[in-house]
Amino acid sequence: MRGMNKHAMLPIALTAVIAAGCGKPGPVAMAQLPDIDGAAVLAHTKVLSSDEFEGRAPGTKGEDLTVNYLVDQFTRIGLKPGNTDGTYVQKVPLVGITPTPASLVFAKGKEQLNLKWKDDVVAWTKQVADVVILNKSELVFVGYGVVAPEYNWDDYKGVDLKGKTLVMLVGDPPVPDPANPSALDPKTFGGNAMTYYGRWTYKYEIGAMKGAAGVLIVHETGPAGYGFNVIQGKTGEQFDLVTPDKNMGRAAIEGWITLDQATKLLRMSGQDFDALKKQAVTRDFKPVPLGVTASMTIRNTLRTIDSKNVMAKLVGSDPALKDEYVVYTAHWDHFGKTAEGIFHGARDNASGTAALLEIGRAFTKISPPPKRSILLISVTAEEQGLLGSQYYAVTPVYPLAKTVAEINMDELNVTGPTTDLTLIGYGASDLDDYARTAAGEQGRTVHGDAEPEKGYYYRSDHFNFAKMGVPALNPDQGVVYASRPREYGQRVRDNWTTNLYHTPKDVVTPEWDLSGAAQDLKLLLAVGYRVAQADKVPEWKPGNEFKATRDAAKDRR
Ligand SMILES: [Zn+2]
Repeated sequence: MRGMNKHAMLPIALTAVIAAGCGKPGPVAMAQLPDIDGAAVLAHTKVLSSDEFEGRAPGTKGEDLTVNYLVDQFTRIGLKPGNTDGTYVQKVPLVGITPTPASLVFAKGKEQLNLKWKDDVVAWTKQVADVVILNKSELVFVGYGVVAPEYNWDDYKGVDLKGKTLVMLVGDPPVPDPANPSALDPKTFGGNAMTYYGRWTYKYEIGAMKGAAGVLIVHETGPAGYGFNVIQGKTGEQFDLVTPDKNMGRAAIEGWITLDQATKLLRMSGQDFDALKKQAVTRDFKPVPLGVTASMTIRNTLRTIDSKNVMAKLVGSDPALKDEYVVYTAHWDHFGKTAEGIFHGARDNASGTAALLEIGRAFTKISPPPKRSILLISVTAEEQGLLGSQYYAVTPVYPLAKTVAEINMDELNVTGPTTDLTLIGYGASDLDDYARTAAGEQGRTVHGDAEPEKGYYYRSDHFNFAKMGVPALNPDQGVVYASRPREYGQRVRDNWTTNLYHTPKDVVTPEWDLSGAAQDLKLLLAVGYRVAQADKVPEWKPGNEFKATRDAAKDRR
């Protein structure tokens, strides 16, 4: 462009630092990497969260505007189409399934127990079908329903469970510490921290893998972390991906029953809930057939939506390594327009989407380009259950075995610089070490999140990559604000969770300060760049639940 400062157009030439006495080049210093422009991030955020974009719901005019904006920006920045078909998009077919209320019947001979829809049972199907039926399926109690090779744990012991309905406990098996029986064993299922085996999504997945017809989780407020009222919110339409077999690989019926009904069920079968629960915390536990059957018929209303992931890439400069990828993700979607008003989703996650664009721009300024390729994916339908990222993870454009790292951005820091950075699931992989080193160069520290028992690591888009074995980093904003009193961080958090999160009030305000976000993003740029340059690819730490999947994928490379 005429009149533009020519110097600003020149890429930043990088020279690796030669470590003293070693001769081997060390990583490029942070100061040599391009800065992230906070003003540019703010400008994109304002557009994406404007009234015109209608809250960016999948399948609406808001989606069209968002996708067009991102494609236009990626093109202007000079990034290449991320899909191998030469486009910047990956189509994501979604199905919305709304169940009609139905009751669940447990039967043993003439004896019957009727569970009332919503009061006693919340159930649905992920199968794309007008009707699904459990017809006198035999109930089997399977404890926590976990298969965890790294903990030498298998609740199934090879028992054939095809066509059965599995009754499972929520959470990780709470194994006591042999050295201190009043505490949880830190070496088994992460101690106090939740592992993926504790999440309800895992329970339905393993049930499907066992060929079960039904999976019923027993709700208990403590280990679930929320009351049954939260589960009752799942009685309406749920979105999901559609597999080629129309999700027929899933159990026909998935659901939750109350603790009260579970206790009655076990009494009916001549068992005692508390006694079985105790057995379930041991490695010797075996599935217990209950001698009771389950019957339920759910009728569904179906609709389909075609949504899109938006993708751009920067091709790596090393002929041997350019087929390996460092991926950044940020979900573009939010809740759209409802009776309550427009859910603008400015921080969640117009901000992260804006960051993705500016991280991409920063990479184009680095010369020579990184050895490995950089892939930026703005995913859809995160708010509907991480569906866009799941679609990419099960239908990847580039092999996941060659995807060396994933870095997710969801909700930037909009309240000024912090002297720290939170890494959710801190210590999971070598990526945390990269982040700690980069933070140190900024004079900052890193730490894990304050509530590991809530399993936040399993609740954003990076997780779908982790599950497939790709080491994934999930940063969250820091909590110690520079030149602010210590309690300021807690005030910021509380204000977000109680007043703004998932409400129409998540908008850009004049108080927004993206200087802290610019710092966080530069750190994430350094992490991705250094991973793209490194001789050795990042790995999960020993004992991590995703390590076995990664090792198996690498054997197939
Ligand atoms: Zn979000």
